[in-house]
Formats: sequence, structure tokens, C-alpha cells
Amino acid sequence: MKFNKNDYFDYNGDRLTILDLLGEGGQGEVYLVSYKGQKLAFKYYKDIPSDDFKYNLKNNITKGSPSSTFLWPKEYIEFDDDSCGYLMELRPKEYVSFVSYLTGTNRFKNKRIMLNWCIELVKSFKLLHEKGYSYQDLNDGSFFLNPENGKLLICDNDNVTADKRSLGVLGKMRYMAPEIVRGDKDKNTGERQMPDTHSDRFSLAIILFLALCMGNPFEGECLKKYVIVDEKAEYEMFGSKPVYIYSELDKTNRPIRGYHTAVINKYPELPTYIKEAFHRTFVDGLKDRENGRTNELEWLKLLCKYRDELITCSCGKEYIYGFNEKKHNDRCPYCKKETRRFCYLQIGKNRILLEPNKYIYEIHIDKYSSNYNLAVGKVIVNKNNPGLWGIKLQLNNDILIKDKSGKEKTITKDGVIPIVNELKIKFSDTSIGQIITNQ
Ligand SMILES: [Zn+2]
Repeated sequence: MKFNKNDYFDYNGDRLTILDLLGEGGQGEVYLVSYKGQKLAFKYYKDIPSDDFKYNLKNNITKGSPSSTFLWPKEYIEFDDDSCGYLMELRPKEYVSFVSYLTGTNRFKNKRIMLNWCIELVKSFKLLHEKGYSYQDLNDGSFFLNPENGKLLICDNDNVTADKRSLGVLGKMRYMAPEIVRGDKDKNTGERQMPDTHSDRFSLAIILFLALCMGNPFEGECLKKYVIVDEKAEYEMFGSKPVYIYSELDKTNRPIRGYHTAVINKYPELPTYIKEAFHRTFVDGLKDRENGRTNELEWLKLLCKYRDELITCSCGKEYIYGFNEKKHNDRCPYCKKETRRFCYLQIGKNRILLEPNKYIYEIHIDKYSSNYNLAVGKVIVNKNNPGLWGIKLQLNNDILIKDKSGKEKTITKDGVIPIVNELKIKFSDTSIGQIITNQ
């Protein structure tokens, strides 16, 4: 350990005091520090990083964070002996690791909250890629979650680089795209293919699959071939011979009954459009890295659609009614109780199943919005009459509603829209919704 408790040094004319050691990894140590009256985290590299690495780190600090979900380096600190580190915000206590979710120690409050997290994750990578960065080293250790509201934090951002620029980091096995594992040649430069947006996209799909199905999409029957899963086995499973566990073309690597129980239970629950997005990435995307992988915008639309059509059964479980499925779920898949009558709000192509605590988001009423998790309305229950439901608005403008008799009424921007059949809601000139009762 380089620093001890109460060590201090001057940085930019202010005293930085070491308060505690928060963690230690392969690359460095992370300390709790106080600086300018604020408590922060300070990562210090055990070995002196390359000039390239330092340059990249400083550059990322100058360019700034793509979004608030990234625990982004804030200040670069270099010492006389050329060793260095950086300051960042502390991770709030209510966030737990994605690893602890995968092991079952922590759970999301419900499926909707889990989808909020997935949406934040994809959105963060969309913003990162739009800023010209790639993450390069996506793995389960980088992500944190708030189980209560689905908020996300992304740590270990020091390997983030401008796309196509490389720091020599390839990533972590089980999360890397196969072309990176194999060390394929880049078709343009002839040099080794390094992580970029396209390989990030493959890794992102693996994280989403883990979040939704609690298992790795390439670990199935093939595990039986290996006495131990060593480097050679991993090279085959994730590099030279990857087979998606639900591939329609190659059924040799299905999950193992009694061993991959979570995946076997969870995968069938997914809407077909989500299954197809995975299939595309993990089957077509093995060969076609540029066009075969579901991109961030596609994921966002599909995950929002999934969230919109969730219905909560009286047994407490959430499932999809399946507006787009060949066969609707007219019974709860868990307790087999008949699906209750419900209303949904149709706006353009969106169908939002209305039930207490369900949200309408800005993307539903504004096709140019990219605020996938910004609520503009919430379904509430009338305190005096639990049979009466409404949508409590959080808008910037008043809106107009029209009931089936043709009677119009203005609802203030923070008012409540009654949920009644065939009610038309004019959010704006281009966004008109209607409440429909499913018979
Ligand atoms: Zn049920």
C-alpha cells in the first residue's frame, strides 16, 4: 500500500488527505480522501502507467463524462516519481454490484425496475459511443445498481478510449467479442482487431442477457466437453467455436437441465422481439460484426416495449400480455390465474399497459426524445375509490382530453387524466393517445 491513513499531500494548492483504503485491485488502490471539504475516491496506480495511458486519461477528463451514470475520472494527479492517479466521485452506499445480483445476493425490486436498469445501461453506451469513445473492457465487475429504482453506475472507466485507439486492453473472457478473443486481423489495417464500438455491442448484449436470464449465452452443453474450464476451453467457447445456447441453427449447446436452471426458467418469459435481438447478435453477429449485432437504439426501443407491456398478477409476479406474440398470455404463467381485464394507452405504435405505479415516459409522447427513463405521468389509484384509476401528469404544458361522447376538457400539466375506455388524450398536435380496454 502506497498511502497510510492521515497521509496528506498538496494538490493544486489544496490539501488532499487520505482517510481510508476502499479497495485494492490488480491495477491499483482506491482510497477515500478528503479534498476541498469534499469526500472523494482516489485511484492510485501501483505501477507507473504508459505515457499513452496517461495521455488518454487526461484527455478523458478534459472531454468529460458521457453521462452521469459513469463514475468518470475528475482530476488527474501525477507525483514527482511519475506515478499517478485520479480523483472521482464516491459510489453511493445504496448501489450494489451487478455481481451480487448475478449470485442472487441482491435482487431488483421488480422486473420493471430491472428493465429501467437495462435501459440506463444501453442509453449510457449509446452516449459513450456517440461521444466517440468505446469502453473496451465491459464485464460484470464494472456495473452497479440501485435495486430500489434501477439506477445504474458504471465504474472502472480508465480504459475508455476514443474508438479505434487502443491501450492494449482486450477485455475479460466470457464478455469479449469472439473476434477479439481470436485476435482476428482488422480488415482495413491488417493489424490485430482491437476492441471498438462493435465489440462493445457484443459485450453489451452479454450483459443484457445476464441481467434478463441470469446466465451466460455461450455456456451450455459444451461445458461437458471440458474437465476444467481453462484458457483453452474458454478460447473455444468464446473465440473459435462459440455457439449461442438458443441458436436456431445449431442446437448442440443448449443449457444443461438441473445446472442452468435460471436461464431455463427465465428465457421462455422473454418477449419474442427480445429473443430475436439476442439471436441476431449471438448468431448473425458472430460473423457480421458490423451489421449483425443489435445496436443501442434498437435495444432501447425493444426494452421500452417490454417494460410497457408488463402486467402484474395478483400473485405479485409480472409477465407480458404479449401484444405482439402469436399467442397472448391469457393466464399468468406463474400461478395460472386468468389475466385480468386491463386498459392500455395507445400512442402511435406504443401500447402501455395501465396499472398502478406504471409510468408514461417522455419517449412515448415525443418522438424526438431520448429520455427513456424520464416519467411524464404515473398511474395512480383514487384513495377514496380504489376502482378509479388515473394518470397523474408531470408535464410542462396542459393537455386536452375528449371522452367518447365528444366532450372536451383541459387537464393541467400536473393534473390527473381519468382512465376510462375510449378516452382520447392530446399531448401535443403530433402526439395523440387513446385509452383502450382489452376485452
Ligand atoms: Zn399469478
